[in-house]
Amino acid sequence: MTRIFNFGAGPAVMPEPVLRKAQEELVQWRASGMSVMEMSHRGKEFLEIAAHAEATLRELLGIPATYKVLFLQGGASLQFAMVPINLLRGKNRADYIHTGEWSKKAIAEARRFGEVNIAASGEASGFTDIPSPDTWRLDPSAAYVHYTPNETIGGVEFPFVPDVGRVPLVADMSSTILSRPLDVTRFGLIYAGAQKNIGPSGLTVVIVREDLLGKPLPGMPIMLDYAIHAANDSMYNTPPTFPIYMAGLVFDWLKGQGGLAGMAQRNERKAGLLYGTIEGSGGFYVCPVAKACRSWMNVPFTLRDARLDEPFLKEAKAAGLLQLKGHRSVGGMRASIYNAMPEEGVVALTEFMREFARRHG
Ligand SMILES: *Cc1c(COP(=O)(O)O)cnc(C)c1O
Repeated sequence: MTRIFNFGAGPAVMPEPVLRKAQEELVQWRASGMSVMEMSHRGKEFLEIAAHAEATLRELLGIPATYKVLFLQGGASLQFAMVPINLLRGKNRADYIHTGEWSKKAIAEARRFGEVNIAASGEASGFTDIPSPDTWRLDPSAAYVHYTPNETIGGVEFPFVPDVGRVPLVADMSSTILSRPLDVTRFGLIYAGAQKNIGPSGLTVVIVREDLLGKPLPGMPIMLDYAIHAANDSMYNTPPTFPIYMAGLVFDWLKGQGGLAGMAQRNERKAGLLYGTIEGSGGFYVCPVAKACRSWMNVPFTLRDARLDEPFLKEAKAAGLLQLKGHRSVGGMRASIYNAMPEEGVVALTEFMREFARRHG
């Protein structure tokens, strides 16, 4: 049996060498005589696994010592609440940039805890473009500015980090973290659900500037206080041990790929191949997203004739190209081409697309 090319948006493809390594170590991790799944999270072996994962992530992203790295649960969706709970810090208002489905959910959750100022919205373009920063109405007294660097559903990605002055910048990087180099010092807080570019679902990574911790809204559960997790090295309760181990293997793999600079080169090339195929199809395939903000990670496209959607998916599946159906809210197709999608997968997809267009065009 051979592995297919999985273009799913998440949980998503994992690097094959990581799966092989995990398979090798599944029943017994090194000389411990047990699986990582069976270890105490407070034992020497697991503490070593967690420390290694954190150290490698810090190295990849160049995370300064003034930032905490937290391994949490609850997905990016819980961060939609934890961010306002922890970062309003006595203020009542935060700025949000609305660029699509995920920022919409972050906004809805934040409204439960404070006032949300929509400083900019891509609504006028049907969320196919990012409003130009000189039109943003940022509030200099806002507690923080939240944005979604890559809208996983719409395929809209910021080609820049917004300049928001002294107000802490918060980013939901679930579907773009580790895809290219990043200056962490530009951010107050970064969060990401693991299941797109980090590892298995069940783990959420939070990178937060230390001075923002310790002033959560009163009356909130202890589990929603970043400071508690930071003070306990993410072991206030039992952390998602196996996903942390898997994430560590992915971080090792990324280092071996030339780190984030190496990934950026590959990701840009992969995305270029796919967008080039769409553009070169004479309108058979269409990508609705403005050229300047097309995602390197999630590529949505429609077929000129929607009646061909079903045959496209069926024939793609037969060719070993799976999970290409677009999100239910937008239809059409979406190819997610995260770090772990090999270049051969994108080449196979583009060859299939050209061949399909030839036969049906
Ligand atoms: C997938 C995704 C989420 C939701 O993540 P969960 O881990 O399912 O809560 C939120 N934001 C973005 C940008 C995503 O891609």
